[in-house]
Amino acid sequence: MSETTRLRIAIQKSGRLSKESQKLLKSCGVKFNVNEQRLIAHSDNMPIDLLRVRDDDIPGLVMDGVVDLGIIGENVLEEEQIERNSLGKPAECIKLRELDFGACRLSLAVPTEFNYQDASSLEGLRIATSYPNLLRRYMQEKGINYRDCMLKGSVEVAPRAGLSDGICDLVSTGATLEANGLYETEVIYRSMACIIQSTQSQPDDKQALINKILSRINGVVRAKESKYILLHAPTETLEQIVALLPGAENPTVLPLNDDTNRVAIHAVSTEDLFWDTMEQLTQLGASSILVMPIEKMMG
Ligand code: ATP
Ligand code: MG
Repeated sequence: MSETTRLRIAIQKSGRLSKESQKLLKSCGVKFNVNEQRLIAHSDNMPIDLLRVRDDDIPGLVMDGVVDLGIIGENVLEEEQIERNSLGKPAECIKLRELDFGACRLSLAVPTEFNYQDASSLEGLRIATSYPNLLRRYMQEKGINYRDCMLKGSVEVAPRAGLSDGICDLVSTGATLEANGLYETEVIYRSMACIIQSTQSQPDDKQALINKILSRINGVVRAKESKYILLHAPTETLEQIVALLPGAENPTVLPLNDDTNRVAIHAVSTEDLFWDTMEQLTQLGASSILVMPIEKMMG
């Protein structure tokens, strides 16, 4: 295998993380076209290659140093880490940051007719899961013995099919559980997508590129969480109005033409401005309130 000077990033080929992963990299200025048949997508404007693989393979590829970066759900990362630690395989990687997509939880669920008190209700019973290591860690902490039923897919149908008594599976809305006559009893792990780096030391230029991508990701995520707020305010309630703007300590205050009693306020808020706050602002005499999305932020 030839060493490459291009940065290799592993992303999910197709599934719940693939679109968001591609969107994130594109908003960081990485240009590429994905050919559905191809494992690799080369960027045309940066020395970056995207490897499109099954999500389960991403943590291992990063931990083995086959790729430099990976975008993966924390649930899959942690599952692989426990697995590799138990096998004595390399399990190290650097979590650069959590991302703002892929939110889900790994939960225990049982059939609606099951009389569930707490996790000990599962003592001696069979639980179907694709996450045997995360489940084992949780049940060991609680001191509960259970029996495994390892399934890579269709976990939610296992109880009805008579394969298990309960399940431990990923949930986001709970609709799949409900459709299968199950209810969620306990959350055992909360997960988001994250970006990870291999622990292998990188040549300076490659590390500089990683730092650049990370700083751009920070800018994109921060921008998505922030809003640009514009409004007109009476000078006498200015202080109260500024205090109501979430996370906007130093807004720009500008005079208005032909109106000495009112000023214009421009502020970047670290949160969305909710209707309740907007109503409070108007009660304080604010007008022309505009809340706008921000595309990029730096510095
Ligand atoms: P692959 O073919 O790549 O192995 P997969 O079927 O294992 O895909 P997906 O269902 O695409 O995986 O989910 C990928 C990740 O998306 C999950 O590991 C999890 O981190 C996240 N995710 C977010 N919401 C959910 C959800 N409701 N159910 C499952 N995963 C979710
Ligand atoms: Mg998978």
